[in-house]
Amino acid sequence: MGERKIVRTTCKACHGGCGVLVTVEDGVIIHVEGDPNSLTEGTMCAKGLSALQHINNPYRILYPMKRMGEKGESKWQRISWDEALGTIEAKVKEAQEKWGAHTIAISQGTGRGCNRYIHRLARSVGSANAITPGYVCHSPRIGIYGLVTGYGRLYCDYHGWGGEYPRTQIILAKQLEISSADSEMAYWFLKSLDHVKNLIVIDPRATAMTSRATVWLQPRPGTDAALLLGMMNVIIQEGLYNKEFVEKWTYGFEELKMRAAEYPLEKVAQITGVPREKIVQAARLFAIDTPGCIQVGSSLERQANAGQNIRCVVDLCGITGNIERPGSMMSWVLPSTGLIEDFFMEIPITPEMKSKIKGGEIHKMGAARTAHSDTVIKELVEGHPDRIRVWIAIAGQQLVHLAHTQDVIKAYEREDYFRVQIDLFMGPAAEYADIVLPAAHYLELDDIYDMHPRFFISAINKCVEPPGEARSDAQIALDIGKRVAPQYWPWKNVEEMLDYELRRGNITWKQFSKQMVSACTGKDQIYYKYKTDYWRKGGGFPTPTGKLELYSTVLKDLGYDPLPQFVEPGESPVSTPELAKEYPYVLTSGYRQPFYFLAQYRNIPWLRSFMVYPTAQVHPETAAKHGIKDGDWIWIEGPRGRIRQLARVFPGILPGVVMATANCFYPEEPGPLHGLTISSPNMLTSNQHFDPMYGAPDLTCLLCKIYKVEKKDMKDLPRGALRLQGYGGDIGTVPFGQEGKIRQKQAAQR
Ligand code: SF4
Repeated sequence: MGERKIVRTTCKACHGGCGVLVTVEDGVIIHVEGDPNSLTEGTMCAKGLSALQHINNPYRILYPMKRMGEKGESKWQRISWDEALGTIEAKVKEAQEKWGAHTIAISQGTGRGCNRYIHRLARSVGSANAITPGYVCHSPRIGIYGLVTGYGRLYCDYHGWGGEYPRTQIILAKQLEISSADSEMAYWFLKSLDHVKNLIVIDPRATAMTSRATVWLQPRPGTDAALLLGMMNVIIQEGLYNKEFVEKWTYGFEELKMRAAEYPLEKVAQITGVPREKIVQAARLFAIDTPGCIQVGSSLERQANAGQNIRCVVDLCGITGNIERPGSMMSWVLPSTGLIEDFFMEIPITPEMKSKIKGGEIHKMGAARTAHSDTVIKELVEGHPDRIRVWIAIAGQQLVHLAHTQDVIKAYEREDYFRVQIDLFMGPAAEYADIVLPAAHYLELDDIYDMHPRFFISAINKCVEPPGEARSDAQIALDIGKRVAPQYWPWKNVEEMLDYELRRGNITWKQFSKQMVSACTGKDQIYYKYKTDYWRKGGGFPTPTGKLELYSTVLKDLGYDPLPQFVEPGESPVSTPELAKEYPYVLTSGYRQPFYFLAQYRNIPWLRSFMVYPTAQVHPETAAKHGIKDGDWIWIEGPRGRIRQLARVFPGILPGVVMATANCFYPEEPGPLHGLTISSPNMLTSNQHFDPMYGAPDLTCLLCKIYKVEKKDMKDLPRGALRLQGYGGDIGTVPFGQEGKIRQKQAAQR
């Protein structure tokens, strides 16, 4: 046995931030397990535990490469880092001079630590056109919670630090137990179930949580706001709201009362399909049996009613006093290191930059700090003179997650803009790049884990050197930044930059790396902040009125409806009844798998083995109508196209609803698209109907029909998953150099 050491680090294979112990022997990782002395107390999921198959994967990108053929032709030539960075520098400067800095976009995938680097990079070159998936995932929550409470972040208090746990929990289109999309919460949520009295699950399909729910509501996808307004109406009409909190600490109750009265039970039952007695039961439980909290899934934000859906959530919490009370919705006090996001916010968006945010004049809430992705795509497709000219992507598969893939492909195919993709693997997005840069895995880098942010940050410690010439996202951002805007990137190396990010905590990176966590937990957390001078002298919320704004004065000033409201999806049995005659089912795609994280990990053999092909859940009655059996390939067709997925005949799904797997492509299929058009539901979504505030399209509520795939249409279905089964033995070619082969052999020996 050679030299062996255990490294403590933080997993960022998803947003969870689980503590990890990594065993390294002779410079090679041989084992990964949960760290019992971390906030997640030793728990990890399959995604995190499969790390060896990520880092040793022979398909890793190892060197900078430049495109040799047409865009998407998959012809590459290895180049040096110097050539790659020099080309990027020249292209950025050309764009600044010829078309203006705003034509430079910097993008991310789910972020998970690189958010602050992409925003700083964008701002430092003079552009506010940062592209993130936030507008369909979490930004509406952060932004709307911020407007209503003045603070910006509200999280379920599962920890019990204030002496109470939530007695009533609403789980709204969320599967926190498997997606762990919001920091350490998945684990603490499961622990909190030991204390919960009433579990209210709102989801059109059965989940692990519905089996233990006190009441399970199955609304038609896209009608969540109507349901929540109906619940508020019951609570107000029956006088069950928290009178003391409402009178003393909220603004606009009378207006909200009138708005909620527009949603009587009969109407809400008709819109949502939820029986009225269940709506009443849920409303009473949440109002009476407090404290309570609402865990929201991003399905609510993948709708053109995204902003108003979240308005409903926070107003429901407001009228029941489920704000800042132990066991309710909390805005956490940050650790002593402060807001790590200040790293980019210290470079302000100037009025000039703001005026040039793509889509910002319409989707004003989303444009607080990001471009509207669909507008960026539309301008590229149309060849708009002010379109993006340089797009630097730190990971992310916009080709997969944006609406109406057909248009996104057209945008990516354009030859007249310069695209950089920084990634671990080739995927549809990288295939259309001009330059591809190799990214390090999180076990191969030093960084700070800071999700959302919450009450803690933790250290991501390098366990091994990255393969080939891969570099960390932080290093690459620094490398590019030093060339294009050196005044904003003065640090000699990443360690100096991390020291800077930690400076408020009076701690260096080296110290933090050993300490692992900076947190504000237990008795250090402050509840009922609005009753103290914390936000305002004499108490109150940091809003324009000093109150929790059930009626948002800020939204009113921006020209939006200041009260929550329900708007039908752009395409539904109600809004487009003629279309519904041909496409009679509601198609949604919100369900998560515990072994994938959105578009990630279908190239990880162990994870792929759990679900080789994407599945669509169909109710037995619906399946029987079309002669569909469990395991059949089916066409899911809408007005804009059709896709194929495997039918999963499932009695737990609402009849009349088809729940497809989202974010799917087949990494083993040939580029550039890697089978993207075969099964991805975004081949069916529309990029014509958006949430006014954030610009979210209806990704999780549209219309479809289904029918069996005939044998003749099965010939092109991917078989490549079978090739991946050889991983660890003979996997065939190693496309990017000998190093991958060596790593693969090492993996096979273990
Ligand atoms: S939940 Fe997320 S952070 Fe935790 S082990 Fe799984 S992938 Fe890693």
